Amino acid sequence: MSTVPELFGSLVFNETVMKERLPKDTFRALMKTRKEGQPLVPDVANVVANAMKDWAVENGCTHFTHWFQPMTGITAEKHDSFIYPVDGEKVIMEFSGKELIKGEPDASSFPSGGLRATFEARGYTAWDPTSDAFIKDNTLCIPTAFCSYTGEALDKKTPLLRSMNAINKQALRILRLFGDTTTQRVNTNVGPEQEYFLIDRDMYCKRRDLVYTGRTLFGAKPPKGQEMEDHYFGVLKPRVKAFMDDLDNELWKLGILAKTEHNEVAPSQHELAPIYTDTNVAADHNQLTMEIMKKVAARHNLACLLHEKPFEGVNGSGKHNNWSLSTDGGSNLLDPGDSPRENAQFLLFLVSVIQAVDEHQDLLRLSVASAGNDHRLGANEAPPAIISIFLGDELTTVLDSIDQNKPYAQKDKEVLEIGVDELPPLPKDTTDRNRTSPFAFTGNKFEFRMLGSTVSIACPNMMLNTIVADVLEQYADRLEKAKDFNKELNHIIREAYHDHKHIVFNGDGYTDEWIAEAKKRGLLNLSSTAEALPYYTRPENVALFEHHSVLTKNEVYSRCEIQMENYTKQIHIEAETMVDMIYKDILPAANRYVSALSNTVNAKATACSDASSTFEKDTIQTLSKLSDSLYAETRALEKNVAGEGKGNIQEQASYSRDTLFMQMEKTRRIADQIEPLVAKEYWPYPTYGEMLFSV
Ligand code: ADP
Ligand code: MG
Repeated sequence: MSTVPELFGSLVFNETVMKERLPKDTFRALMKTRKEGQPLVPDVANVVANAMKDWAVENGCTHFTHWFQPMTGITAEKHDSFIYPVDGEKVIMEFSGKELIKGEPDASSFPSGGLRATFEARGYTAWDPTSDAFIKDNTLCIPTAFCSYTGEALDKKTPLLRSMNAINKQALRILRLFGDTTTQRVNTNVGPEQEYFLIDRDMYCKRRDLVYTGRTLFGAKPPKGQEMEDHYFGVLKPRVKAFMDDLDNELWKLGILAKTEHNEVAPSQHELAPIYTDTNVAADHNQLTMEIMKKVAARHNLACLLHEKPFEGVNGSGKHNNWSLSTDGGSNLLDPGDSPRENAQFLLFLVSVIQAVDEHQDLLRLSVASAGNDHRLGANEAPPAIISIFLGDELTTVLDSIDQNKPYAQKDKEVLEIGVDELPPLPKDTTDRNRTSPFAFTGNKFEFRMLGSTVSIACPNMMLNTIVADVLEQYADRLEKAKDFNKELNHIIREAYHDHKHIVFNGDGYTDEWIAEAKKRGLLNLSSTAEALPYYTRPENVALFEHHSVLTKNEVYSRCEIQMENYTKQIHIEAETMVDMIYKDILPAANRYVSALSNTVNAKATACSDASSTFEKDTIQTLSKLSDSLYAETRALEKNVAGEGKGNIQEQASYSRDTLFMQMEKTRRIADQIEPLVAKEYWPYPTYGEMLFSV
């Protein structure tokens, strides 16, 4: 047994391994590529590839793959072996620089949103040297970007990397204005907290809805749910503990900083939080984490549910995206500092995020939009679909006093002059950590809480990076031209906060009062994916992405189309699954039970002519009526499915939401009334109670 420090990163071709295995000048060239994005010359690439291959083969690998993140939202790989024929009958293990740098998967079946014509359908993958190669299933996995031959991004990684460059560029300009001459790179960091459910695998396999759609399409409320709140942070059950230990081990081997594991609010719900890292790497790691969660669960005869809302009436699962900005020297730009200058800089970065979030509520909202997350946002548990920012009372008081040019109470009754005065100390962890806010400042980072548990974090972070870069650019333009730096700085901070403070809300985001108040404030409330996605292609958004070289117009349109298509497809599959389960299982189950009850009534009458059969007869009546209504609603649902595919993709998405989805809700209500009436031995599926308390 190796110790955790020995285990950690043992399957990663990381800097330590590179240093050990690469000639000095190759190592230096590679570091330059990693940190500054300089292309690698072919000779160097060959040396790196060979060292990688030797290391991989020593660790049991026979294959390599370019590992990429197409628009499906999951990862893709195509395995090639290292074998290379020599002397007619023998093979050696070979891996060239060319194979490392560029791959050509036959990728014509990935969604491209019309970006690739069929004649150039292949697309190519390009090595991302900023994310370490790793070993999974005896295969060397090389993180790559996926592009069309005309250079358009077909994946989630490429725009994320571009957005990191955009924010780096603008944040560096700001730092230079504050006299920082040493920082070479500003990075965004993310720590995504991942929620999930674990249920018994045998039960999972009995539920076609879970298998096909990731969520239960039926299920009456169990006698016990989460009302006792006895699961949150509760003692881990042995099977769950064994799973988590196993998971940690697998993740550590891959250099993933799995740190915190605990039970969540709902029964069978859990969370894993890693230590934060560079956004690009965090995105790769989160994809790997989700994949490995499923794999490890299967080993323990468990099923890991990553859907946003696997069980109706029970808390859904999200992903809290903890986001901050830091320099290559390791200082966090969202951390209030000790000197007036550091504080001024902090306030500038802080208001830049406030302004960005306010100006681009639509982009943040749509970056987390999916059929699954529609069940969660605004459903009285997760954050509402309205974007607002929680700042906490302390910081709000500071900014309000700046805004109103009023003395700040805790600071000897003086007006705070930014850039000259020191900020009063801000408590790091305010006691009322507001869990209802979709976008909360938590001391030295922002926590974006609207992400669904399945979503790739690449898109939301691409949005965050881009919108903040855009605001920083405006500030830098003004400050570079300013005659009096401090005066302009004060001006910008006051103005930005003044103009955008309506996005700040420290109260309870789950209440109806907030929805009314947000409407008064003019904040966007896009309650479903179908409503949110059309904002993607607004001219001002296309211009924003083009201006920062994050997405071209074509790429924006294609992404929007893919997201809409995913949405309609998902709802289509759910509707089909629902119809299938009703005809094949639910109606027959109700019928079998009715028939058994009828036999009982007849048998009773034969045996004893005056025997009472009230229960049987009532149940036969009720079930027969419910079955008829269920049949009628299912017929209606089938008609709705047949009516799909009309109009443009946007109209189709609205149809999925307004017609199909709504009809599914109606249909389900009836099936859920049937379930409690049918005797256990007749019911075809494990119930909510059985699944939620199965482990
Ligand atoms: P919570 O109370 O929400 O669980 P934690 O302080 O435990 O908050 O942190 C949750 C996540 O935030 C972790 O993944 C952690 O690594 C991440 N995190 C902490 N500091 C930062 C930071 N400066 N930037 C980005 N993420 C961070
Ligand atoms: Mg959190």
